[in-house]
Amino acid sequence: MIPIQVYDTTLRDGEQAPGAAMLLGQKIAVAQALEQLGVDIIEAGFPAASRDDAQAVVEIAKLCRTAKIAAFARIKSEDIILAGQAIGAARSSRISLVVPVSDLHIRHKLDMEAEEVLEKLVNSVLLAQELCCEVEVIAEDATRSDPVFLCKVAELATQAGACVFTIADTVGYATPMDIQRYLTVLQSKVLTLNEIVLGIHCHDDLGLATVNTLTALLFGAREVHCTINGLGERAGNAALEEIIMAMKVRSDQYPFVNQIDTTQLWSISRLVSQVTRFPVPPNKAIVGNNVFAHGAGLHQNGILKAVETYEIMSPETVGAPQRSLPITRHSGRRGIAARVEMLGFSVTEDTLSSLCDQIKSCLMQESILSDERLLVLLCELGVA
Ligand code: MN
Repeated sequence: MIPIQVYDTTLRDGEQAPGAAMLLGQKIAVAQALEQLGVDIIEAGFPAASRDDAQAVVEIAKLCRTAKIAAFARIKSEDIILAGQAIGAARSSRISLVVPVSDLHIRHKLDMEAEEVLEKLVNSVLLAQELCCEVEVIAEDATRSDPVFLCKVAELATQAGACVFTIADTVGYATPMDIQRYLTVLQSKVLTLNEIVLGIHCHDDLGLATVNTLTALLFGAREVHCTINGLGERAGNAALEEIIMAMKVRSDQYPFVNQIDTTQLWSISRLVSQVTRFPVPPNKAIVGNNVFAHGAGLHQNGILKAVETYEIMSPETVGAPQRSLPITRHSGRRGIAARVEMLGFSVTEDTLSSLCDQIKSCLMQESILSDERLLVLLCELGVA
């Protein structure tokens, strides 16, 4: 099994999602939960963005004891100095430098020439190194860049002393094949990359963030950037819980180990949802409310006989509440009988038939039958 590093950016890229801004106390609570969860690196914020951002990074750097604390910065000395100051108190600190590498970003966003970017990058890595323990370089929009230029960036970054080089699929455009291609080219052309860690940073615009991240691991990446609940700009970042559980459930195909305590995934998901007021969709992979709820008759029948029939992981593994068998329009006799038993009653086959009929008519108006409603029906049938 190959060890990998988990780099959480809920507090920086996640927080950049419109409407997801957190207050200082909330950021500290999330950082502490992330540290407890076992993430290796917490990207605590972007100190040059605002005074509040800088203050949050300072406080998180003071409090966290086991996780490495990273601060985000552009290839500008003002950014790097502020980042260095903010993480000064961290036990282990990192400056994550973002460098645009696609033509689109270099020319249209920055109005710079490629040569100028390279020169600024080298100076930035050298400056950052004086202000923290280690430097990561994140190649922004790497998946739409010219591979020859990307290789040049990687070569200069490593020569200047960066110890992690991350390719970012900033706009969620890449497919798994693209990820494979870029990583293969980089590792074959830039030999210095073999001595440092390769990272991957994906977005979910096409719903490919998790699979792209996992593919990157198969082709040499050893650090994954992710956020809780996939929080992030537009369609979000790669979701930490999805990457971690895919590795756990399919370790036959993803033979990687990490420090995450999966039994905390549910609670940290709820914490982040609560502080950002971003609800977790009921069908969200791993942490949605419906993930361990089985409503269809066929499925309820299977689950009652062997949970493996319709579950590839148990609720306990991710710290979720117990599985449920809600009574819906699609439930069958066995599921209803099991529910009645769970409430502490037993019914004859005839009563069960009448109960099923009654339930069917109730569910013409409601989508799920509550236990209270079921009890009323049982009373009416003389059972309860
Ligand atoms: Mn991003």
